Amino acid sequence: MNGLPQDQLQRLRDELEQRKLALQEQIDSEAAEADARASLLNEIEASPADNASVRTLNALVSEAAEHNMAQLAIIKHALAKFADGSYGLCDNCGEAIGLSRLNARPEARLCIDCQTRLEKSLRSVP
Ligand SMILES: [Zn+2]
Repeated sequence: MNGLPQDQLQRLRDELEQRKLALQEQIDSEAAEADARASLLNEIEASPADNASVRTLNALVSEAAEHNMAQLAIIKHALAKFADGSYGLCDNCGEAIGLSRLNARPEARLCIDCQTRLEKSLRSVP
């Protein structure tokens, strides 16, 4: 068990649920905006310069959307860990992640040791 008090667990879970909803809303509204821009682009024959800037904007938006989707997946993963009672435990070593770290990052999957090791190994990749 992660050894976390029930009320703290509940609070972290509520926060994750709220973040999940907010992200889902953001993803939905951005998808709607992207659709609106795409149809606008089809309707008006924009000048090449405008076309380019719309394309750049779309690229930026889809980058943000990808980030949101990735974030949403991480949050869903954390919420799934509540279901099997493994929330608050490191995905890698199974040790408790610790309440202070969970307060800062309720979606954390790894304990600080494993996270540090992971970041070091990522940095060492040329
Ligand atoms: Zn660990």
